[in-house]
Amino acid sequence: MAKVIDSKIPAGPVPEKWKEYKAHQRLVNPKNKLKLDVIVVGTGLAGASAAASLGEMGFNVINLCIQDSPRRAHSIAAQGGINAAKCYQNDGDSVYRLFYDTVKGGDYRAREANVYRLAEVSNNIIDQCVAQGVPFAREYGGMLANRSFGGAQVSRTFYAKGQTGQQLLLGAYSSLSCQVQAGKVKLYTRYEMEDVVIVEGRARGIIAKNLVTGKLERFSANAVVIATGGYGNTYFLSTNAMGCNCTAAVQCYRKGAYFANPSYVQIHPTCIPVHGDKQSKLTLMSESLRNDGRIWVPKKIEDAKALQAGTKQGWEIPEEDRDYYLERRYPAFGNLVPRDVASRAAKERCDKGFGVNNTGLAVFLDFSESINRLGIDIIMQRYGNLFEMYEEITDVFPGDVANEINGVKYYKPMMIYPAIHYTMGGIWVDYELQTSIPGLFAIGECNFSDHGANRLGASALMQGLADGYFVLPYTIQNYLADQAVWPKVSTDLPEFAEAEKKVDAEMDRLLNIKGKRSVDSIHKELGHIMWEYVGMGRTAEGLKTGLKKMHELEQEFDKNLFVPGTKEGLNIELDKAIHLRDFFTMGQLVAFDALSRNESCGGHFREEYQTEEGEAKRDDENYFYVGCWEYKGKGNEPELIKEPLEYEAIKVQTRNYKN
Ligand SMILES: Cc1cc2nc3c(=O)[nH]c(=O)nc-3n(C[C@H](O)[C@H](O)[C@H](O)COP(=O)(O)OP(=O)(O)OC[C@H]3O[C@@H](n4cnc5c(N)ncnc54)[C@H](O)[C@@H]3O)c2cc1C
Repeated sequence: MAKVIDSKIPAGPVPEKWKEYKAHQRLVNPKNKLKLDVIVVGTGLAGASAAASLGEMGFNVINLCIQDSPRRAHSIAAQGGINAAKCYQNDGDSVYRLFYDTVKGGDYRAREANVYRLAEVSNNIIDQCVAQGVPFAREYGGMLANRSFGGAQVSRTFYAKGQTGQQLLLGAYSSLSCQVQAGKVKLYTRYEMEDVVIVEGRARGIIAKNLVTGKLERFSANAVVIATGGYGNTYFLSTNAMGCNCTAAVQCYRKGAYFANPSYVQIHPTCIPVHGDKQSKLTLMSESLRNDGRIWVPKKIEDAKALQAGTKQGWEIPEEDRDYYLERRYPAFGNLVPRDVASRAAKERCDKGFGVNNTGLAVFLDFSESINRLGIDIIMQRYGNLFEMYEEITDVFPGDVANEINGVKYYKPMMIYPAIHYTMGGIWVDYELQTSIPGLFAIGECNFSDHGANRLGASALMQGLADGYFVLPYTIQNYLADQAVWPKVSTDLPEFAEAEKKVDAEMDRLLNIKGKRSVDSIHKELGHIMWEYVGMGRTAEGLKTGLKKMHELEQEFDKNLFVPGTKEGLNIELDKAIHLRDFFTMGQLVAFDALSRNESCGGHFREEYQTEEGEAKRDDENYFYVGCWEYKGKGNEPELIKEPLEYEAIKVQTRNYKN
């Protein structure tokens, strides 16, 4: 009999679910001298907010991160903003509308009840952050300012210049520090979780490596929460921070946690194009730029060829010869279509030969119209740090006048191209954010919960903080209510010893391969395979080839890897080797899922399944489910388990951004 997944969604119509859930919740009061310990792995926006909230509520929290400070978690990179349904612009926004846009943006592959809850708590997040002192941008009159992100026709994105993630993280960090000072949170920086320890079927602790001394340490608790971010770096080149990895999530998967929808990977349309084979990182140009920037390529192929040859510049092409292809194809949303749609449209133009840089793999993002309309000062107020960042990397300042044709000023446009950015897939969680292993929870980007097949811009920060401040601290108590009568397990149990021994043996194995290839050279090759066969356009044949190549490369990794140094002390190469071992598992998982899903939806585009106009063609009859994968050992195909989706409040239909 097929396995059944209990997603613990309460009965009743969607808007009532969260209320009904709360009504039946079993809350524990740890301030009542109960000693309940929770391990929170990660100090990004999800982890820091969860650790701070749990500490505030009276739980004893052990909080770990790989950086030297929580303030350096990858969340700091978030630029553009965070969504909430405040309707400060009086433009007709509402909780329902945010819910609807998110479900539609996710191509009807998200769990409806979770998304409703997310939309509902979105407004609390803004209040919480304002109370912490997060310096959101304000209008002249003092109200918080908003801008628009893709997939929405209202302005609901709150921002702090182009550094929203950093400011939100500083807010969460100050709350966290408060709890550290109060003795409720014990912070372990430069620690990496290497394994989760399961005792009698429940997550009871972790094995972590002190990254400075190299020593393995055991931690036990009543519950374990992972908030360890996404797996975008499987592709080697991505907009993610270099340290982002999926080791914690993959170890949980190996220990029995289902991994959901791994093929839903987001490719962001506005990144600085790849410019050589020595790069190890890609830079995002925030989606917020699409509020005022217009995306175009030349109408005439001879102009495109001249741009590629370097004999012509973008600003020499007059208005009538420009193809604003998003505005042409999607008049209702124009440049603000969701990311998956914008990325595919850029690829389509470049594949047809209209790319604008020397590789033919770039399109223009042009501010001429908005600078002429609003003036450079306003544009700089909105995007100043992004313009400067672009200039630092490319030596082109997008606010520089370059030409005047028929009295119209033309400014130097940015060049952009899609790149791997975010992962919608992640560890499967139920409505309470608990994984398929009792006592193990997953929050933030490392779970799969709310974005379906495509995440809308500015919704990751919203989800991370919703999970951390407003959902997990309550839902975890249903589990902890039972745990209150059980003592915390000892780290002397054989389960801890065995897990530690295995981690240690793995480090020995990697160090003793003593081959000839560096971690980075193999990782880069894995990235090429992923981008080529499991990237923006996928086919059954390509995915099978990709799987074969990944398998061969994994064997090369096992036989020919070279890791310098020893286990003792700091060894960054060893840490990277562990991450790469897990990127192999992850890459194959993405490909298996993509191969099993014979449809196109959101970030998963199977070229065999598209309309005549090149739009994604979903198959709701056969694929209206969350695809959950159960690990079956190295080299073996994992087992697919389905969680059927049920929609009550929203009619499932074909996405339309044209009218
Ligand atoms: C360039 C860029 C710009 C973005 N801009 C926006 C935006 O404007 N709006 C928006 O909504 N989203 C944006 N996003 C997405 C958003 O930033 C992320 O999805 C979000 O910050 C993830 O938060 P998180 O807490 O889940 O994980 P992270 O911030 O990735 O934090 C992971 C944490 O886990 C720790 N960790 C990882 N592995 C281990 C381990 N094994 N052991 C111990 N600790 C571990 C790390 O140290 C870190 O503390 C952007 C992303 C990028 C790359």
